[in-house]
Amino acid sequence: MNVLDHNQPILKYFEEISRIPHGSYHEQQLSDYLVQFALKHQLEYKQDDMGNVIMYKQGTQGYEDHPSVMLQGHIDMVCEKNNDCEHDFDRDPLQLYVEDGWLKAKGTTLGADDGYAVSYMLAVLESQTIVHPPLVCVFTVQEEVGLFGASHLKAEDLPVKRMIGMDTGGEVVTCVSSSGGRRTIVTKPLNKVVNTNNTFELAVGGLLGGHSGGNINKERGNANKLAFRMLQNLNEQFPIGLVDVIGGLKENAIPRECVITFTCDTSIKMMDKIFKETEKQIKTELEFSDPEFHFTLKQLSKTAEYCYDEKSSKEAIALVYLLPNGFKAKSMVIEGLTTVSLNLGVLAIEEDALKCYFSIRSPIKSAKEELSHEIEVLSTILGAQVENMADYPGWNYEEKSEMRAIFKEVVKEELNAEMVTLASHGGLETGILKGLIPELDIVTMGPHCEGAHTPDEKMNIASFEKMFEVLKALLKKL
Ligand SMILES: [Zn+2]
Repeated sequence: MNVLDHNQPILKYFEEISRIPHGSYHEQQLSDYLVQFALKHQLEYKQDDMGNVIMYKQGTQGYEDHPSVMLQGHIDMVCEKNNDCEHDFDRDPLQLYVEDGWLKAKGTTLGADDGYAVSYMLAVLESQTIVHPPLVCVFTVQEEVGLFGASHLKAEDLPVKRMIGMDTGGEVVTCVSSSGGRRTIVTKPLNKVVNTNNTFELAVGGLLGGHSGGNINKERGNANKLAFRMLQNLNEQFPIGLVDVIGGLKENAIPRECVITFTCDTSIKMMDKIFKETEKQIKTELEFSDPEFHFTLKQLSKTAEYCYDEKSSKEAIALVYLLPNGFKAKSMVIEGLTTVSLNLGVLAIEEDALKCYFSIRSPIKSAKEELSHEIEVLSTILGAQVENMADYPGWNYEEKSEMRAIFKEVVKEELNAEMVTLASHGGLETGILKGLIPELDIVTMGPHCEGAHTPDEKMNIASFEKMFEVLKALLKKL
């Protein structure tokens, strides 16, 4: 039984998509569904080995020679469900329902991120009446897990200089910049020796953390950096042997906790005194941004059999203490936008080496490389190696954009409202596409959705319909 009105193409397609499992890495079935759609509607198409699909449609009468436009969205969704929900994301259709004008899925994410884009594109591709320039509709896979699908696209398949991105927005809101980024891993080898001292555990916590894209400019404490600041202060008075380090969970999350096991030939009382002094300083510094910071120190009843020697431990501690971290630069054009940052998200001892995992972000390539270089110079001095990976380009803000000017007009005419620009310090597919086609002029748009990536995800149906009218009005002007 249908929950939505199938006489309306966007609703029909949204419901059809939600019946096909399409979590990240499991998009093949939906990708094949798109190919069937292209065949049925006699559209030229390409499907690559990852499952990305591109469909091409000629411009409608009078629009044949207008500049081509890319419409774009991702076909994978984040699979999150409530603890008591039995849903199997590999098999089961989503259980759609409507509540107070909002579309939701029972106990799970809805996949409006980014199913709205897929529905819009299919409805435009199917239509005989919507007026539009030549279209290149791009459906990507594996967006939510690292923009992998988009990174696999080839410029020669995308003969466009204009793009309507449909993954961010919210009625009047349009995106004007997204960050580029990379992962950087620093590896500091450590020398193992037999331990003869007492063993202690220092744990710092109470911090707010948060996503390193959106929260890096909020002066929140980084548990890894703070724990090593304390240890550095101790190490300046007493030799330390590192035993183990566990800090943070992900490179792109500001770490909230860090636990260091170490050996030291001094009393816990003396250590506590040194740490308390540092804690006091930190608490003052973070008074208004991260006030619950605290540490605990305890002596372990079981002493460690081995530890890492004084010299390599000292270098490792100094390294983490000195490594750059956090907010670095902001835009002077867009208020509140961070343009350069890095997050020391994870620390761990693996295979007799201290590993430091960073997420570096900037829409400006040279700024990103400059940070990597800083890390590299310092690491080399302290006997560590650096590896950069998972590089993705950014979309730097451009003052002039014809697409944005046209969208502004459409928002005024269709919604009787002023367009609002949004810039993201997070990575988006727009950055990858901008990297492929440097002259690409981009706007983004979408309906009013809330709770993305959580089981509370919902999409406002009236907004979903209204923004399709906006899309049609926009296409008519291109
Ligand atoms: Zn998305």
